[in-house]
Formats: sequence, C-alpha cells, structure tokens
Amino acid sequence: MEKIIFIDRDGVINVDPIGDYVKSWEEFKFENGALEGLKILSDRGYGIILISNQAGIGDGVFSKETLDDIHRKMLEVFAGRGIRIRSSHYCLHGKNAGCKCRKPETGLFQAAVKGIQYDPQRTFLIGDKATDMEAGVRFGIKTIFVRTGHGIFDEPRLEGRFKPDFIADSLTDAVKLLP
Ligand SMILES: [Mg+2]
Ligand SMILES: [Zn+2]
Repeated sequence: MEKIIFIDRDGVINVDPIGDYVKSWEEFKFENGALEGLKILSDRGYGIILISNQAGIGDGVFSKETLDDIHRKMLEVFAGRGIRIRSSHYCLHGKNAGCKCRKPETGLFQAAVKGIQYDPQRTFLIGDKATDMEAGVRFGIKTIFVRTGHGIFDEPRLEGRFKPDFIADSLTDAVKLLP
C-alpha cells in the first residue's frame, strides 16, 4: 500500500486571487505555511498528488503554456526545499464544458490513482472549496477542509454528506491531523 495524499492548488498551496486566476508566475504567491506543510508530508513519505481546476484555460483567460510555466517554477521551488510531488493533474476545461474531470467530478482522481495500491479509508484530500469536499466524498476518500483561500466563504456551505472529516486553519495544520 502506498501512502498518498491529494492536495488542491489554489487557495491551499498558493494564494487564490478570489474571482480571478493565477495568470503568471508573478501572480503566484505561496500560502503561509504551505511549503512547510508540503515538506512535512514529503519527509513522512506521502506521495503528494496535486489536483487542480484551471478553467481559465478552457475559458480563454490564459494559455496552457502559461500554466506549464507556473507549474515548472513551482516545482523548482519545491525541489529546492526537498519537496517531492508524485504527480499533478489539472482540468483545463471551461467552467461550463461539462467535462468529467473538473471537481466536483472525480475524473482527475481516477486518472491519478491508476496503478497505485492505496487504502481509500486512509487517504485524504485537502481543499478550500465545498466542491473539493464533494469530489473527495464522491471518490470515496477522506477530506480535510482548510480555511485559507475560499475557505472563509465556503465553510458555511459545508453540509450534508459532503461535510469534511476535519477542518484546519492551513495546510500545515491539516498535515498535523493525518495518521
Ligand atoms: Mg482551491
Ligand atoms: Zn475537465
């Protein structure tokens, strides 16, 4: 069994420009404590899997080349700190494209776990939106909601079967809740 963890990008790892997109590396700012949290996960042997909706591409706000550039530079920062990412999965479709990968759909999760032996009962998704929590529940894993990013707006919307298993103030605090 592999120890894996799913992590949303905007609003968890980097500051989410609410109502906008991260459209360049200059606009990409790490959330407080995010690098520290990722380092702890990496050192503890978790296979970190990034799952991120980037509808700005499908909706024509910025290009795939720009996303690739941001992604490459983000990975360089991670590498400089000894943080290893197992894989990254982005939905590039527009908000209304009706694809099967934009969260709360679970297509990216299904693609990510191909060939991986893992225990869903001990596998978490960390995210800052109610739709992240819905995706995690629908995929059959545990969820941790963080109050960074959209967290402050979405916390009142967490209800019913999509309620998270835990709520934390930041990625660093979320990591402390893990087995
Ligand atoms: Mg997010
Ligand atoms: Zn998609």
